[in-house]
Amino acid sequence: MEKELRSALLGHAWTTRHYIKSGWEKEDQKAEAYAEITALIDTLIAVNGASGNKATEEAPKKAPVAVPPVDPVPNYAPPEWLYDESYFPVVGRRFSPGEFAEYLKSSDLDEMKWSPEGITIHHTAAPNLSQRPNGFEEKHMGYLRSYYKGKLGWSRGPHLFVDDHGIWVFSPLSSRGIHAKSFNASRIGIEMLGDFSYDDDPFSGRGEKVLTMSKLAAALLMKYLGISPGKLNFHRHDPLTSKDCPGKKIEFDDFEEDVLEMLETL
Ligand SMILES: [Zn+2]
Repeated sequence: MEKELRSALLGHAWTTRHYIKSGWEKEDQKAEAYAEITALIDTLIAVNGASGNKATEEAPKKAPVAVPPVDPVPNYAPPEWLYDESYFPVVGRRFSPGEFAEYLKSSDLDEMKWSPEGITIHHTAAPNLSQRPNGFEEKHMGYLRSYYKGKLGWSRGPHLFVDDHGIWVFSPLSSRGIHAKSFNASRIGIEMLGDFSYDDDPFSGRGEKVLTMSKLAAALLMKYLGISPGKLNFHRHDPLTSKDCPGKKIEFDDFEEDVLEMLETL
């Protein structure tokens, strides 16, 4: 079969070469050449299909996503909020993936004052990773609150800040936050620590850890708050922003694929 195809292709090549030289003078020659090449293409596709699609088999497969353990926490009780105030309350606590899963099922979320439908991903840009060598600390939650409240005049901020050690709940998940003009009313905001446009690498070291933890946070929100897997997006998808969140180096499709893969394992 291979020999036959080879000679048919070669024959077609000679014919086409001849027609090109003569400037495709005759319409019937054109029609004949087109019919010939179409038949050849169909045969090639049929043969390739029958041989088990070798090309696809040999293509390198995407490495399976590494899911951090979501260890169960027996007798879990939600923590006291760092700022338990009516104006700009802040939970301000860091959760391991297992604790975060328990938190999402806890009494802290018994009274939802909104119905989140999706998730929007950001990066902090400033601070970048080297400005927070140990990730966030409790005092940083206070700084963030002062910045949003004092400088920007906001009454709340993004819901989660994720570093390379865990998931910080900032603005309570039971109320809408402020993080992306078009999505505040319907989406939970997740800030990833780092500058993934310039200073930090999202594919190695601490940057990779932050990304993995953030993807897991998104997957856990989908599982325990019933957020639709189809409702994940990036801040830069907001037509009302000029920001490139969560960083130029991060492709949406790859990020989403990993989140959905993690969700399957939960
Ligand atoms: Zn953003």
